[in-house]
Amino acid sequence: MLRRISRPDTPARWSAALGRARREGVSVRQLTASGAWIATSTSDPHSAYEVSVYRCTCKAAEFGDDPVCKHRAMLRYHLRLPLHISASGMASAAASNLRQAA
Ligand SMILES: [Zn+2]
Repeated sequence: MLRRISRPDTPARWSAALGRARREGVSVRQLTASGAWIATSTSDPHSAYEVSVYRCTCKAAEFGDDPVCKHRAMLRYHLRLPLHISASGMASAAASNLRQAA
C-alpha cells in the first residue's frame, strides 16, 4: 500500500519548482487542435506530460499527489498567472480580472 505524504502547497515550493523548471529547461506547448497544454519531461527527452494549471500527469503529481510540480509552475509562469494560487484564489483572481476588464 502506497502511503501518501501530503506535501504543502506553499509559495516557497512553487518558486523552487519554477527555478527547477527553468534550470532544467522545461518547455510548455499548447496543442493547436484541443487547446490542451503539454510540458516537456526532463527525465525523458521523448516524453511530455499533459499539464493544466491544476493538474499534471508527471509522477510527482500522479503518484506523489503533490500539489506542486515544475511543469505546472512553468505553465503558470508562461500564462502569467500567480505561481501560488488556490482554487478559491483562482476564482477571485478571475473575478477581479473581469472587473478590471469591464
Ligand atoms: Zn508535473
